[in-house]
Amino acid sequence: MIQSVNESRPFSFLTLRATDYSDRKSGMKSIVVANWKMNPGTMREAKKLFDATREAAESAKHVSVIVAPPAIFLRELRARYKGKRLGFAIQQASAEGSGAYTGDISLPQAKDAGAQYVIVGHSERRAKGESNEDAGKVVAAALESDMTPILCVGEKARSHEGEHFNVVKEQLRTGFSGVEPGKISKVLVAYEPVWAIGGEKAMSPRDMHEMAIFIRKTIIELHGEKGMGVRIIYGGAATESNAAEMLRDGDVIGLLVGHVSINEARFAALLQALENAR
Ligand code: PEP
Repeated sequence: MIQSVNESRPFSFLTLRATDYSDRKSGMKSIVVANWKMNPGTMREAKKLFDATREAAESAKHVSVIVAPPAIFLRELRARYKGKRLGFAIQQASAEGSGAYTGDISLPQAKDAGAQYVIVGHSERRAKGESNEDAGKVVAAALESDMTPILCVGEKARSHEGEHFNVVKEQLRTGFSGVEPGKISKVLVAYEPVWAIGGEKAMSPRDMHEMAIFIRKTIIELHGEKGMGVRIIYGGAATESNAAEMLRDGDVIGLLVGHVSINEARFAALLQALENAR
C-alpha cells in the first residue's frame, strides 16, 4: 500500500542527530545539478538555455551549478564557457573504457568533452534496464577517471513496512561497492524518490532529513565512519517554491533539478531563492 512516509515511520532515525551534520555544512556552497534530460531540441536552443543558466548562476554566488546537457551539446557548451563557476556533467556513461558498445559514451570521452561529473543510475536509465551493479561499476570507473559520480538512488513507491529503506540500502550497497572509504566524500548521492520526479510536489524536508540520516547510517555500516562525510542532494519536483526549505531542513547540501532547469525564469528563481536563504 502506497502512502506518505509521514504516516509510516518504522524507524526512528530522527534520534540519530548526535553528529549534527547540518552544523558542519554551514559555510559550504550548495550544489544544484541542472539535468536537462533530452532537452532542448536544437544546439541553438541549448546555447540560449545555457546563456540564461550561466547568467542566473552568476547572480547566485553561493551556489555551485552543474549543467547536465544532452551529451551531443556538451563539448560546444563547454567551449562556450570561459569561467570557472559552472560545472558540467554527462547524463550517463559506460563503465567500459572503449570497444564495441554501439551508442554508449565512455567516461574518458565525456571528460574529453568537458564533463567533470557523471549522473549514475538515474531512475529513467534504471527503467530502461540499468541495474544496481551497472551503477556500481560506473561509480568506481568515474572515481578512477577522476570524475565525480552523482549516484541516484530512490524508491518507486513507499510502503507501511518501510520497504523503501531496503530498496535504497541495496542501491547504496551496490553503488558504493567499488568505493574505497577514502573516496566516499567524492561521491554525490542524489536521493530521488521516483514518485516525486516530474511533478510539482517534492517530498517534505522532514522526510528527506530522515532519509539523509538513513543514507549516512547505511554507508557508515558498510564502509566505516568515513561514511559520515557522504554528500547528499535531493531530486524530485525541486522547484523555486520548495528549494530553500529543502536545503534548510532536509539535511541535504543541494538539489538535482529536472524540468525546472529547462525553464529559464523558474531556474533563475530557484537559484535566487537559495542565494537569498543564506
Ligand atoms: C530528475 O529527473 O532527476 C528530476 C529531479 O526531475 P524533476 O526535477 O523534473 O522532478
